[in-house]
Amino acid sequence: MSCGGPHATDCGEVLDHLYEFLDNEMAEGDCAKLREHFDECSPCLEKYGLEQAIKALIKRSCGCDDAPSDLRSKVLARIDSIRAGQRGGEPVVELDPAAPVHGDAGVLTASQTATPAE
Ligand SMILES: [Zn+2]
Repeated sequence: MSCGGPHATDCGEVLDHLYEFLDNEMAEGDCAKLREHFDECSPCLEKYGLEQAIKALIKRSCGCDDAPSDLRSKVLARIDSIRAGQRGGEPVVELDPAAPVHGDAGVLTASQTATPAE
């Protein structure tokens, strides 16, 4: 698990400690290590779709403003799914916010047939 670049902190290690980081339960030294990694290793965060959320959280926590709990729980849920995928050896499903949403076509069929055109 790596973006290919050399880092003082391993990408997997960062993921392991993201919970503590987001909960502000890390020692300041470890905290700095993670921030450093985010700065130099945006490719791996981008891959997880976590970059935006984490940068936003970092900014807010640096600005004496509590991170919004819904954003944080979204990130934590995302980390959960990433780690679950890693455990199972399955590829991480890409969540591209810019991608069109599929799945409506099949779901809508029932209501479409039940609604007569006027
Ligand atoms: Zn990385």
